[in-house]
Amino acid sequence: MNRRVSLPKHESQCLTPQKFLPMSLIVHKYGGTSMGSTERIRNVAKRVAKWARAGHQLVVVPSAMSGETNRLLGLAKELAPAKPGEDYNRELDMLAATGEQASSALLAIALQAEGLESVSYAGWQVPIRTNMAYTKARIESIDDTRVRADLTAGKVVIVTGFQGVDDQGNITTLGRGGSDTSAVAVAAAMKADECLIYTDVDGVYTTDPRVVPEARRLHTVSFEEMLEMASMGSKVLQIRSVEFAGKYKVKLRVLSSFTPWDIDLTEEAKSGTLITFEEDEQMEQAIVSGIAFTRDEAKISVLGVPDTPGIAYQILGAVADANIDVDVIIQNLSKDGLTDFSFTVTRGDYARAMELLKEQVLPKLGAQEVVGDPRICKVSIVGIGMRSHVGVASKMFRVLSEERINIQMISTSEIKTSVVIDEKYMELAVRALHRAFELDQPAA
Ligand code: ASP
Ligand code: MG
Repeated sequence: MNRRVSLPKHESQCLTPQKFLPMSLIVHKYGGTSMGSTERIRNVAKRVAKWARAGHQLVVVPSAMSGETNRLLGLAKELAPAKPGEDYNRELDMLAATGEQASSALLAIALQAEGLESVSYAGWQVPIRTNMAYTKARIESIDDTRVRADLTAGKVVIVTGFQGVDDQGNITTLGRGGSDTSAVAVAAAMKADECLIYTDVDGVYTTDPRVVPEARRLHTVSFEEMLEMASMGSKVLQIRSVEFAGKYKVKLRVLSSFTPWDIDLTEEAKSGTLITFEEDEQMEQAIVSGIAFTRDEAKISVLGVPDTPGIAYQILGAVADANIDVDVIIQNLSKDGLTDFSFTVTRGDYARAMELLKEQVLPKLGAQEVVGDPRICKVSIVGIGMRSHVGVASKMFRVLSEERINIQMISTSEIKTSVVIDEKYMELAVRALHRAFELDQPAA
């Protein structure tokens, strides 16, 4: 009876964006702020009802009411501050999953009050199967039998976000912000026509408008650019949801849930930012699409390391074994058989990484010194246009030099250039770059 579908492989949806065929299958995801009170839940229900009454099949994935996940995890912390090795992650998932379960049931009730047939399912009831990595589980498969039957019967189906179930029947959660990933995974598994992520901002911006008030909303952004931006500070989407959308070609749109619920559906369907795939034609042809930045970074340098095979492994292997993520890495030219090795970590890991290197790695390597700077940041220009244009990175360096900002490290990929600079110049750098790449001008 139970049909378990693996997630489909690369089947691009051929629907043109903004045009939904009658009876399209649409996934809506509502974030915590959008679900923040009964009043707002009622608004969500009215918006969903508008879509359902227009003839679409709707699967809705809500987050917990805003603040709820923090509140629940805070209670756990009061009872038992986490100590390494004394994990109670299974119970944390059991606990945190209740936030989404409550908002899902409330939304189903609100929809019924609107006169729609609606049913909500917890992750295990669908089921959404995950691996066993509590607090950061990964979705493995989704069985769509039950959801499809309800849709066919004319119901709006609420699938609880952020959670799943492992092979042993334990409840798991997908990591903070994980209901984005739930929504995209459901859209992928069900081959939905579009996945709309309703949130408290009205789309993806050229940079954070709190730093640059002239920042502009992008009508479209490529999935690869979005991936770079999500991994570098843009908090609009959980990064894993973007990876998922790319892998399964889910058509994804980020839009505001704070427009009046009764605005015209066609207008709503065109609003926000559409995450496109490169082959799509309506890309805005800017060379640089956005400026991303991360503040909370730190730099560590191991000085005077004997330049022999295996040093990168000895340094970074030890860091990785301690579960510390490393970002930008540089190794200098060696002089007299000695070299310097620098890398960045998030600021929260800085003290731990320094201690580890000083106490365990330095003595073994025979390096001279470990020095660090916890006050750096990373600023990146992102754009798929960089693939086909030369001189973009050098323009970035020129702009920074004109502002007298010293670049400490550089790293590049095909579609981005990142620099590590002193934290105190971050805003200046972002503003200067935003202006120099004319991101405040509407795309031609
Ligand atoms: N409620 C969860 C969190 O706060 C998941 C989500 O909202 O996406 O991280
Ligand atoms: Mg979120």
